[in-house]
Amino acid sequence: MPRLAPLALALTAVVSLALHAHEPHDHAHGSHNAAAHQHGVGTLDIVIDGQQLLLELSTPAADLLGFEHAPHNQTQRDQLDSLMNTLRQPEKLFALPAAAQCSLDSAELHSPLFALHEHSSDDAHAQHEHHHGHDDEHQHEHADITAQYSYSCITPTRLEHLDVTLFDLFPGSEKLILQAITPQGQQGGELTVTDRRVRF
Ligand SMILES: [Zn+2]
Repeated sequence: MPRLAPLALALTAVVSLALHAHEPHDHAHGSHNAAAHQHGVGTLDIVIDGQQLLLELSTPAADLLGFEHAPHNQTQRDQLDSLMNTLRQPEKLFALPAAAQCSLDSAELHSPLFALHEHSSDDAHAQHEHHHGHDDEHQHEHADITAQYSYSCITPTRLEHLDVTLFDLFPGSEKLILQAITPQGQQGGELTVTDRRVRF
């Protein structure tokens, strides 16, 4: 199992390149530019390669959390903890056909907010709030949240569709721009609460 992780990473990198290299957008070098994101709109990249299924979800933090700054208080720290917990359980975000028998190999979360959150002690937060509590209010920086999931599927031929259920949990997420590479080829599209099924 541990051997899958580097493979998944390598595949994700290749896929990111393949999917984004020729994107007509003007943002730099194919990476998602957090400063340019539009609230309510995220991306979902899907790769099916042999028995491996890779999902990469990237959304503005605001869509999942309601804010995009480092947590200011215990309530916001709890919100962030709760979100990270949820994101580590992709069965709450995506529904896969049981017949495909996919099992999760890894879940990786990335966000500047998580880094700020985990590298700060509560004492530091308390001091920060006390002395500088108002400074953050004047910053209007954007932050993305990215989650990467790698699955192994025993019967990938039965992976005929994927339903995005995260719209139910996160009403702030209104639309996901889909890009998929599967044995059937490449496909794009838009997913919403009323049009949430990807067919392979
Ligand atoms: Zn934003």
